[in-house]
Amino acid sequence: MCVFCKIIAGEIPSAKVYEDELCLAFRDINPQAKVHILVIPKEHIPSFSSITEKNADLIAHVLTVAATVAKQEGLASYRIVSNCGPDAGQTVEHLHFHILGGEKLSERMV
Ligand code: 5GP
Ligand code: ZN
Repeated sequence: MCVFCKIIAGEIPSAKVYEDELCLAFRDINPQAKVHILVIPKEHIPSFSSITEKNADLIAHVLTVAATVAKQEGLASYRIVSNCGPDAGQTVEHLHFHILGGEKLSERMV
């Protein structure tokens, strides 16, 4: 089981900020901004490149939750990131969207 599936299963504790039957949002263990939250589908989807028409409704829901969580956190400005593949810095092979905010972010994205 991957680390995020273990978090979903409750085998690894996490600081949850939102949960429903389809997705989970929790604080990143190694925050790279004052606010750093991960939003993930509960289904094990390996990466952004596994998004298809078949799971598009689920992904739309996950992104809608990301927008709601950002509002709940009081973020007026923020960045949504999904690293896809090792050269992009993906270290956990379970699709996740980073919400980064709470401070002025770097103008560089790479
Ligand atoms: P990636 O590098 O794949 O884009 O992002 C993976 C993120 O997951 C990293 O920012 C890392 O800090 C976070 N992460 C890895 N393991 C855990 C964990 O056990 N708990 C939490 N809350 N975050 C984790
Ligand atoms: Zn997983």
